Amino acid sequence: MKCTIRDCTGEYETRYIVHTVRHKGKVIVIDNVPAEVCDVCGDVLLLPITVCALERILTRRKRAVRTAPVYEYERVVA
Ligand SMILES: [Zn+2]
Repeated sequence: MKCTIRDCTGEYETRYIVHTVRHKGKVIVIDNVPAEVCDVCGDVLLLPITVCALERILTRRKRAVRTAPVYEYERVVA
């Protein structure tokens, strides 16, 4: 499928991405999420069924399979 970003000539291809959301103030990371990613600009589309699956993961609140370090952004002073 052609990219939906104006003037982008890329095509979406299925890739497995790391999806990060802020849920009730907490950062949640979901790994291996199938997504359509533009091969030129990197625009990411999630299919409605994938969005449903992500919501289900957030609401079921199962124990996390892995944890990841979270860093606060620090601006580089030139
Ligand atoms: Zn694109």
